[in-house]
Amino acid sequence: MKATAPPSPDLAGMALACAACGRPHALEDLAWRCAACGGVLDLAGFTPVIPPVSALAGRPPTLWRYAGALPAAEPADITLGEGMTPLVAAPDLPGVLLKMDYMMPTGSFKDRGAVLLAALARRLAVPRMIADSSGNAGTAIAAYAARARIPCAVYVPGATSAGKVAQLRAYGATVHQVPGSREDTAAAARQAAGQPGTFYASHVYHPFFLHGTKTYVLEIWEQLGGRLPAVLVLPAGNGTLVLGAYLACRELLAQGLIGQVPRIAAVQAAGCAPLASAFGCGLAAPDEIDAGETIAEGIAIARPARGAQILAAVRDTGGTIVAVGDDQVRAAHAELAHAGLYVEPTAAACWAALRAGLIDTGPVPGDRPAAVAPLCGSGLKSKPPTT
Ligand SMILES: [Zn+2]
Repeated sequence: MKATAPPSPDLAGMALACAACGRPHALEDLAWRCAACGGVLDLAGFTPVIPPVSALAGRPPTLWRYAGALPAAEPADITLGEGMTPLVAAPDLPGVLLKMDYMMPTGSFKDRGAVLLAALARRLAVPRMIADSSGNAGTAIAAYAARARIPCAVYVPGATSAGKVAQLRAYGATVHQVPGSREDTAAAARQAAGQPGTFYASHVYHPFFLHGTKTYVLEIWEQLGGRLPAVLVLPAGNGTLVLGAYLACRELLAQGLIGQVPRIAAVQAAGCAPLASAFGCGLAAPDEIDAGETIAEGIAIARPARGAQILAAVRDTGGTIVAVGDDQVRAAHAELAHAGLYVEPTAAACWAALRAGLIDTGPVPGDRPAAVAPLCGSGLKSKPPTT
């Protein structure tokens, strides 16, 4: 390490720990769930250190400016300059800002987590990676695997947009299109993950991914001069952005860098809304449901593996989980496009919820923004919302 570089954590001392029973798993064991009880794994043995805003000036405009808060050092030959996406004013909603995460290298916020997984894969010298995705996470993993020169296979539902499949193949990934539901795709990937030497680079299961998505909130905090809005409006399917955002908020609070945690308002598609349903019923974990149809394909997750964690996180912030219908998403998508913002239908869901008045954004103390929502995926690789 160069003497002038910001401190970078080493993997030494880190492990994966079961969220349910606490059993530790070594990183190099490539476990994706608890070997004892099947629970999801969180990162243990890592103490993030977020630099104060004043220390960040002059650092490169990427998410690696938060070195010390991330569990891997910047992989100089893997990074694509991801992070530090702009915050722009929302059309016709004063106090609401939109974060332009569709400007990431592969066109979605998933790059934040994918680069962390690729950095870990390089450090562990894994022979191959696999991923499963409704589209954006797979393309992100495939891009960073290509960058790291690690063979990669991606499992996607048969109905995945042709543009996303073409993008995967262009990166050199082996694409497995699985007939049936998103859950069928995940099951096929989990079966493949059992092969020795396979690193299941799962955006859902691997906690390194969540430590990547937390940079979404660290950037907002820095871009607002060391503050956060009253409400973080976030899409929720598998909840990787919700959980990453929550992680960042807790870390900022623990280090005294914010005075209070913003409310998290998570947004689902009404056609597939197990989290919104469980939240409304006061359940600790979502019931298993059958996935319905929705144009917001990126958040159509019937059985979110971290569902209990998502519900607990949202409740801890005093937030809410709401659902929007496809007609609302279509209208929101069109409105954003007419304001110069061409995103995929899923990325319009948060805007739809704000426009429908489903999220209480006021009153806001001081001069903080009322809310920030992500524009999380590019419209260039998705199906038009009318089909
Ligand atoms: Zn366990």
